[in-house]
Parts: sequence; C-alpha cells; structure tokens
Amino acid sequence: MEEQTNEILTSLAEQLHTLAHNLWWTWNPQAQEIFRELSPLAWERSNHNAVDVLHDISRQELTARLHDPDFSKTVQEVLQEFESYLDSRITWASEHIAELKGPVAYFSAEFGLHESLPIYSGGLGVLSGDHMKSASDLGIPFIGIGLFYRQGYFQQRVGPDGWQQELYPIYHPERLPLELVTQPEGGRLLNSVEIGHSTVYFQAWRARIGRATLYLLDTNLPENDQHFQGLTAHVYGGDIDTRVGQEIILGIGGVRLLNSLKVYPAVFHMNEGHSAFLTLELLREELKAGKNLEEAQDSVIARCIFTTHTPVPAGHDRFSQELMHHLLGNFWSDTHLSLDQLMSFGRINPGDPHQLFTMTVLALKMSRAANGVSRLHGLVSREMWKELYPFRPTGEIPIGHVTNGIHTPSWATRKAHDFWNKRLGIDWTDKLMDADYWHKIEFDGLATDEELWALRYVLRRDLIEFVRLRLRDQYLRIGGDGSSSLDHVLSPDALTICFARRFATYKRAPLLFRHLERMIPVFNDPQRPLQIVFAGKAHPRDNEGKRFIQKIVEMSHHPQFSGKVVFLENYDMNVARQMVAGADVWLNNPRRPLEASGTSGQKVVIHGGLNFSILDGWWCEGFNGTNGWGIGDGETESDLEAQDEKDFADLFTGLAEQVIPEFYSRNERGIPVRWIARIRNAMRTLIPVYNTDRMVAEYARKYYLKG
Ligand SMILES: *Cc1c(COP(=O)(O)O)cnc(C)c1O
Repeated sequence: MEEQTNEILTSLAEQLHTLAHNLWWTWNPQAQEIFRELSPLAWERSNHNAVDVLHDISRQELTARLHDPDFSKTVQEVLQEFESYLDSRITWASEHIAELKGPVAYFSAEFGLHESLPIYSGGLGVLSGDHMKSASDLGIPFIGIGLFYRQGYFQQRVGPDGWQQELYPIYHPERLPLELVTQPEGGRLLNSVEIGHSTVYFQAWRARIGRATLYLLDTNLPENDQHFQGLTAHVYGGDIDTRVGQEIILGIGGVRLLNSLKVYPAVFHMNEGHSAFLTLELLREELKAGKNLEEAQDSVIARCIFTTHTPVPAGHDRFSQELMHHLLGNFWSDTHLSLDQLMSFGRINPGDPHQLFTMTVLALKMSRAANGVSRLHGLVSREMWKELYPFRPTGEIPIGHVTNGIHTPSWATRKAHDFWNKRLGIDWTDKLMDADYWHKIEFDGLATDEELWALRYVLRRDLIEFVRLRLRDQYLRIGGDGSSSLDHVLSPDALTICFARRFATYKRAPLLFRHLERMIPVFNDPQRPLQIVFAGKAHPRDNEGKRFIQKIVEMSHHPQFSGKVVFLENYDMNVARQMVAGADVWLNNPRRPLEASGTSGQKVVIHGGLNFSILDGWWCEGFNGTNGWGIGDGETESDLEAQDEKDFADLFTGLAEQVIPEFYSRNERGIPVRWIARIRNAMRTLIPVYNTDRMVAEYARKYYLKG
C-alpha cells in the first residue's frame, strides 16, 4: 500500500516536470498556481518560471508536498485537464480544415510566449506567441521556427538621470522550458548553413506550446568560430552582418532543420520578412532535384505565405549587392544561377543594379498569398508595393489583410479568469469566436454594474500595489533607504490611464505633455483626479526613443505630477499583464498610419478597460463610437509638427470633455453608469473579434488551405 502511494507520487512529480516543460501552463491559472505555491519566492524571483521553480525543489520535498491531499488533488486535476487537452481528437481544425495536407511551419524572428522565456522584443513577438497558442487550441498541426537568444532582448534599468541602461543576463536552457533536439540514436542534432565562406553549425531547442512545437535555433557551439558562437545571442543585436547572419540561420537553417527532422510542411508562413531566405533554400532544393527555374519557383510559391507588418518603407530590411554576394554567394553557388539572378528576387525592378535587396520583396515574390495586419495596413501595404504589380490597379494588388488579435486566456489575469468562470462557466475560453455568446454581456443579468465596478477596483488596486513594490525596488537600488513611504503614489480611486509599448518614436509616448500648462490643471483637479502609468523599452541604439523615456521620467519627478505620473522599468509580458488589467483607460497615440495593428489595447477589454486611441491599426476598425474613444479624425497631415499639434489638441479635448467627466459621473450608489455601459459595449463588440482564435481561423481558411 505504502509503496503504491509512493509510486503514484513519484509519477505525479514526473508529470509536473512534463507540465513545466509545456507552456500550456501559461494560459491556465490553476496550473500557474501550483508552481507559485511550491515556492512563492522562487516563482517571483524567476519571473514566473515553472522550470526554475522545480529546479530548486528536491524530489524529496516534492514527494512530501504531494502528501498534502488538497495540493495533490489540485495537481491531479490540472494534470488531467492537461492530458485531455493534448489528447482531444475533435478540434476546430478537425471540423473545419481537415483537408490541410500537412503541418504549417511558422517562421518568426521573435516569439513572445511568456515573461520567463525572453526571446521577444515587442508586439511582433507577442503576436507570434499568441498565434502559436491559438493554433494549438484550434488543433492545427503547427510548428514554430525561431532563434534561441541566450541573452534575450535586454533588461531595462533607468538611471537617476532618466537614461535607459541595458543589462544582458545569460539564460540557461536547462532552466527554461526547453529540451535539446537530439538524433534518434542520441547525441545532439547538428545542422549547418554557409555564411560567407564559413560553415556555421547550429543546434535546436524544442519548446512545447500545448499541442504545437517550437524549434529555436542556436549557434552557441564549440564547433563554431568564437564570432559565430554569439550570432544568436541577442534579439536584433549587432551590426548588419549579424542581422543577415541571423536571418540566414532562421530562414535557411530553419528549412534544413525541418528536413533533418523529416517534417514536410504543407505551408511555410513567414511572419515578417526576416525569415524570407527560407524561400531561397526551398528554391535551391527544387533546382537540385532537377526542376528548371520556373517550375522550381512555382513549387516554392505554392507553399509559401507572407505576413508583412511594416507600414514605412524604411522599416524593411534592405541589403546591398556587395553584402549579399559576400554572405550568400557561396550558398547560392550551389544553384548554378548567377548572383544577378539572386539579387533580382529581392528587387522591385529586377534589371536595376542600383536597387537594394529587400526581404519583403523576396517574400512577396515567393508567396502565393500575402497580407497586412489590419484593414488600414492592408491598404497602406498595397499602396506601398504597387510598383511590384505594374499591371494591376491598386485595389487588385494581391495583399489582403488579417487583423491581429490576442490570445485572450493568456492575457486575462487570474482574477479576470475567476470573475468570468463564475459568470460564464469555465468554457468561456472556448467561445472566443462566438459573437452571439458575448452578446449576453451587455445585459445586467450576467454581471451587475456593481460587480463590474468592484472588479475594476480590484484590478486597479492590484496594479497600484504592483507599481509601489516595483518603485520601492527602483528607489532602493539607486540608494534610497526604502523607508520613504510610497503610499502617496497613485490612488485606488483615481482614473488610471496606462501607456506601455516599445518606445519607438512614432508611438509618441510624451505627446500628452506637449503643452504642460494645459495638462497640469487636468492632473490636479481634486474632485476628479487623474493618474498615468508608463512603461516601455527603447531599442538600445535608438537614442531618440531613450530621450522619450527620459522625458517621461522627468515628468514623473515634476512637482505637479508627483505620485500621479510614474514610469515602470523593464516592460515585459508580466508588466504588460498587470497594466492591461489595472488600466481604466488604455492610451495609444501613434502617428497614423504607422501602427500596423497594435494589440496591447485588445488586452484590456476582458478586464473592463477602455481604449482611448488614435484611429489607426486595429482601433481604426474596432472603434464603433460607443466602445471607447477615438483620437483624431482619421486624417494624416504631411507636416509632422502640425499632426502632433492637432493630435494633442484632440487628445486633450477628449480627455477633458469626455473621458474624465464620464468616469466621475456617478449615480446615487457611486456607480459610473455610462462608463460601465461603455465597458459592456466594448466587451460585446471587441472580445469575440480581436483575439487570435478568430485570427488564426481566418489565416487557416483564407491562406493555409488554399493553393
Ligand atoms: C502586447 C505587447 C506589445 C504590443 O504592444 P503594442 O501597443 O500593440 O505595440 C508589446 N510588448 C509587450 C510586452 C506586449 O505584451
């Protein structure tokens, strides 16, 4: 008897390790609770890393802990749910896209899956991560290909002068949810690519994302020259040679890895142009197999689709002929085609020797379908690439759009999950594409105004306490004594705006402070207090973006904004989750039309937050007049100063005349009735559309199946 129990416990302990190595737990609050409970301190210190938590717990302790019947019961329930998720045979995919002939291989330079796996820099990565999670939920056979950045993006610190500093901790794969890909007979699986005249070897790490698999390529091997060992160390790190080198590993290396695993995808989906070299490798294979160029190219085109994300010409990777010859010449010599021929694939006008090699052009030429990431961005992209299709009117250029979404179960905080589980039932996460289902949210019966308002208070307070803890750490680090009280920082009763994203300059973080003399009174109305939390990283080489951070930090020290304007360091998916839950209002004021989609504003809705944003990207189509507020009239000025001035004026007026009055207009029970009605309208209209289940289903039907 005794022995049998121990056997069960040993098996549970093993299954917990399996669970920690499948990121399924990142969208299941109950699973997260297990790891948090095992060691609250390790959980916090490791930025919620389940593998790290288990690493520090002995078998002896784990077995002992599992003797606690309540804990053991929770573990068994979660494991059962996990198992039935992995085993379910009837899925959206089995019912809707059963004709799909093989797996989808999805290539992306970054994957934002969870804060504990920091291989992303911003929205593009988070989108890739959310895409994979929904592909798993929908049951689509799906393989992600990315790079393992051993030093991640960077950790942000802000010095006393407000200047961003970058720290590069080294991450250890054995402390991450990764396993080395090995050969059937054991020993790690090595592949190689040619970069210039060097052979560069890479290994791969496997991450499990529910039912989907992600492979992360890594050149940190003793077989490589020192120089190439660090090739994959940083997200978008280094000079242009590093950039091309990383893109060779991702695109060409990714295809070689799949071949060595004997995986033959039906679709290659390039998420942004970084991976477009994969088409050259597919082409090389076809030519080697004896096809002529035209047949070979057709065969590549039939398998590839491409999603573009960049609405400005300057944002696309462009490489000189010299660089291309230098880094890809040797690889290309295997095809017996000329180097001019290679260049022509990346040129709008193949015959023009002065044109640079553009990854987006390569991807467009080698894909059977392409798309932008919102309706407006689709339009902008067709206009931007019309020269590639000289014989077609702009409206008929074959670039469509699929508007981005979010993986709602990952972004909903534990408390939001609990709130909706209680009211909708635990299967609400399976109903994200069902508009009728979300209809009922507009009626009082499901959740009363009082309950929704209570939820807003709970989530706002959680954010404020999170901010105070983080600020205390920041003060302690720069030499404060930690005794100074932070209780005055932010008020749980005040209208709370959040602004968080990469500090790319087009996003105009400091726009709100363009005319201080007008903003100061707005922040200092004792009857209607306003406060704002900022967070975001600037790219290490973007000094303009760093000056924007400095400006925000300076504002947070301004006596008129003290305790009302704060800047939180080290924006990541965890900080994002806290902020999207706590925000009453999510502010986004990019320079239109540069926000291809944006997704952060979509994350607030399930928490009862409202968007107040420029009519750009997803919000341009999501806003209906009553589910939040728009800024600007949807027009674009050519004079940037004039545009900023106009957008500030509109932002100011909207805030002073609509947002603030509505938040503080209360009934006799203290409820802001119109505000809550707006929240309900936002939930009903936005939740069932701006999520990745809808988005991935759209990709599957429109693009994965056809061809
Ligand atoms: C959602 C998210 C983004 C995307 O934000 P946008 O405002 O859409 O640019 C970027 N970074 C992190 C950490 C996120 O969670």
